[in-house]
Amino acid sequence: MEKCDRIKGLEAFNKKYSTNKKCLEKIKNIRWKNGFRCPRCNCNEAWDIAPFKCKCRNCGYQTSVTAGTIFHRTHLPMTKWFQAIYYLSVRRENATATELQNILDIGSNKTALSVFNKLVPMTYCTIGKRLTWHNNQLKGIVEIEESEIFFDHKGRDIIVIVESKHGSIGRIRIVENPKRQNPIAFLKNLNHQLIDEKATVRIHSREISCPLAKRVSQDFKDWCQKKEEQKQKKTFKELRFVYCNMINAYKVKVTFNDILKNILGNNVPPAYNSKLKK
Ligand SMILES: [Zn+2]
Repeated sequence: MEKCDRIKGLEAFNKKYSTNKKCLEKIKNIRWKNGFRCPRCNCNEAWDIAPFKCKCRNCGYQTSVTAGTIFHRTHLPMTKWFQAIYYLSVRRENATATELQNILDIGSNKTALSVFNKLVPMTYCTIGKRLTWHNNQLKGIVEIEESEIFFDHKGRDIIVIVESKHGSIGRIRIVENPKRQNPIAFLKNLNHQLIDEKATVRIHSREISCPLAKRVSQDFKDWCQKKEEQKQKKTFKELRFVYCNMINAYKVKVTFNDILKNILGNNVPPAYNSKLKK
């Protein structure tokens, strides 16, 4: 019980998914939400040949609810996989394989590491999907600062946009404004709207101070300078995205359901090299 206490809601979660059957039922509801579909011939009729396993009536192909996913032919009980996903949805960037092993109460650190290495990219991939800029407009009070940054032997005009979340930094966007257009006109002309129509926009000027945007702007400049000193071969555009995603990732919520759906959606996660944190 003590272990569960450290991860918020884990005890209730374990009660909900207390058996493998309950977990497979959940997977079935996601994967075959609209009924069975044969992966080979697309037929929608099948015979049940075992619990969570069936055979296509048309071509005879046998498949299961976990076929083609990371859960296929796993030796680890599904209840443990579910706990592991839940753990990652709560701990996210603070997750470690050692803690996971502890939570799952399994003896082998090799198994824990293997599960960890499979789930971490899935978690990041799920977070990444939530970070897409379009259909994720900044809301509420939004600060804007125009600034200039010197990068790669070139001065660049940028617009830093920061959402104020109860006075602290919320989600951010940084865009280049090469022709030094008026920021509002410039932002309006972008392909997708970055700021919600109902947002209260404050643009930095002599009369209006935008402390959050100023802070982000300065931090971004320092960060870019560091990257330049480290001689990382990244373009300014890439750096802008990496920086924004890095800041925004902490503000994005992902749930157990989000990650599980992503896993079952057969998404190929980006390569992830992790070390077993001690
Ligand atoms: Zn078939």
